[in-house]
Amino acid sequence: MTRKTLVSAACLLAAAFFMTENPAIAQSTAEPALPSPAQALAAFGPSNPFYATPAPPFYAPPFDKIRDADYQPAIEAGMAEQAKEMQAIADNPTPPTFENTYVAMEKTGALLDRVMAVFNGVTSADTNPYLENVQTEEAPRLSAHQDSIYLNPKLFARVRAVYEERATLHLDAESQRLIKITYDEFVHAGAALSPADRDRLKQLNEEESKLEDAFSRGLLADTKNAAFVTTDRAALAGLSDAQIAAAAEDAKARHVQGYVIPLQNTTQQPVLAELTNRATRQAIFEKSWTRCEQPQGDLRPTIARLAQVRAEKAKILGYPNFAAWTLEDQMAKNPATVLHFLNQLIPPATAKARAEAKEIQAVIDAQHGGFELQPWDWEFYAEQVRKAKYDFDESQVKPYFELNSVLENGVFYAAHQLYGLTFKERKDLPVWNPDVRAFEVFDADGKPLALWYCDYFKRDKKQGGAWMDVFQDQSRLLGHLAVVYNVANFQKPAPGEPALITPDDVTTMFHEFGHALHGMLSAADYPSLAGTNVPRDFVEFPSQFNEHWAFYPQVLEHYARNYKTGEPIPAALAEKIRKAQQFNQGYELTELLAASMLDMHWHMLPASAPLENVDQFEKTALVESHVALHDVPPRYRSTYFLHIWANGYAAGYYAYQWTEMLDDDAFQWFQQHGGLTRANGDRFRQMILSRGNTEDLATLYANWRGRAPEIGAMLQDRGLTGH
Ligand SMILES: [Zn+2]
Repeated sequence: MTRKTLVSAACLLAAAFFMTENPAIAQSTAEPALPSPAQALAAFGPSNPFYATPAPPFYAPPFDKIRDADYQPAIEAGMAEQAKEMQAIADNPTPPTFENTYVAMEKTGALLDRVMAVFNGVTSADTNPYLENVQTEEAPRLSAHQDSIYLNPKLFARVRAVYEERATLHLDAESQRLIKITYDEFVHAGAALSPADRDRLKQLNEEESKLEDAFSRGLLADTKNAAFVTTDRAALAGLSDAQIAAAAEDAKARHVQGYVIPLQNTTQQPVLAELTNRATRQAIFEKSWTRCEQPQGDLRPTIARLAQVRAEKAKILGYPNFAAWTLEDQMAKNPATVLHFLNQLIPPATAKARAEAKEIQAVIDAQHGGFELQPWDWEFYAEQVRKAKYDFDESQVKPYFELNSVLENGVFYAAHQLYGLTFKERKDLPVWNPDVRAFEVFDADGKPLALWYCDYFKRDKKQGGAWMDVFQDQSRLLGHLAVVYNVANFQKPAPGEPALITPDDVTTMFHEFGHALHGMLSAADYPSLAGTNVPRDFVEFPSQFNEHWAFYPQVLEHYARNYKTGEPIPAALAEKIRKAQQFNQGYELTELLAASMLDMHWHMLPASAPLENVDQFEKTALVESHVALHDVPPRYRSTYFLHIWANGYAAGYYAYQWTEMLDDDAFQWFQQHGGLTRANGDRFRQMILSRGNTEDLATLYANWRGRAPEIGAMLQDRGLTGH
């Protein structure tokens, strides 16, 4: 049983981070007919490529044989198979034991795991209308399937019986962890409730999911409607001819006159950095800020009710508020720890933001602007500061970042130096698209360790952003080694040309490969505790940690060579790239902290709280948190905060800053102990990367670091110290 398949098929690791800036998801109008679930189930047989159980240790999906029509029958059969397996565990006449209950559950759902892993991979990276229909059809059926497991009273009775006698069982630490995590999941799903409470919870879950759906749809529509429209080309001064042409195209597509500038899902809009017309900037900003408050699509009642529903759910489950409930299984564990963490960051972040504002005001004054800096001016003048102080010409840099060299002499090289890994391309393995490459990964002793696929180039039918996911989790119990993949959206070069990528792309490659390492180096017994099956506030730690090697001198020198001449990147240019990473960090951290505080405040409301006035609530939350800077608005306002209302990040947005603390703090340890060495890498692998979720994560971290994580290195990395 892989928890990810059951719990959330939609939320990919990095995808959640990189993808949600733009909520526009391709919607198909074509509706190819699907068989009914019963017909699909009946169609499943030996000719289906998911039918045969693959021989361990690797599962390399047979992409050369899988057709679109194969998924739904395999999903239906997979659910039926797992339901039967779970019922057999529940009905077992012998008394419950760890083996015949918890371990037995780990062994269930092999077919469902297999097909869902491939289905999720393909629908994210290479989808089509037929697969989208399968997704729509099967999503509620998968969630009902999950409920039928967690809310099976006979099964839970056995789970509880073993849980209650766990202290007397002579089990290793990982098995104890499995008991705790599994039991908590049952309880979190409502298994321990009275029938009346369970019914009420079910009602609330249904209302919540309807409200979330209404929010997502409403936000899409509001964001589209709030696009800035003008017939005056002069209003768009500062944009390039290509941008203006795109704005004209957009207008044509919408059948309106003139030009359309669509909004992205953040408060600030990228075009604000370029528009010279201040009135246009203000108009676009205000469209963004108030997008969900228009009479035809006001989302304030929806989110006020959502907050109430969640508070009531938490109360039924025995918690003072939703944050307390949802944080219990995270590394941070409780709202007090999260608030303490955020509160530590707010003074240095806002102090730096104020210093940056001063610098920007000086630019405005020097140009005789005659006005006080407003949020819609920030990006425009900050861009001028950036050009003066941090600029480097991307075309100058690109010849040094040829994708294949970055991969083999950078990403692979760092993994070899740290963990002793080697990589061999496997052209014989089937792939889901001709752009995809497959590698076998070998451990330091030469033994096979994992399969790794990469799918780097942008194409239609691929979601935006970049992510990692697995086709198979590592597990000693099942004899499985990890099969993982990375996806990104880099510009594909013309045929025969080298792929020259940007510094951001390089960072993305190291980031996603950090997730891949977390999956590949896993050494867990149980699949549901393996690799990246860790809480939200830990999962970005290994990936962000791996980013640090991208511009680490020894690694950079090794891969950043001019693709024509072979010359290494000039030191001054490398220094400029590193320095540019500290630009505008006061602003950027402050807007994130403001969003995190809004999230925490909404989800710490008790069930007894009245339906809130959204505007008033937001204002008060920001003031009380000391992040109400008039020129630094939150990255997302409550009304368009997709992460927390519909994308599974309720009381979880802090995780982005939390994992940044972890990765900077961890990298500081490496720097203090000699940097890029096998000794350091092996220790990190043994104590962190191989451990998945097999031990309490705060304990795991403290054991490795010698203390709890601290924010000092994070402040230093962002350049927020010493002003
Ligand atoms: Zn990530």
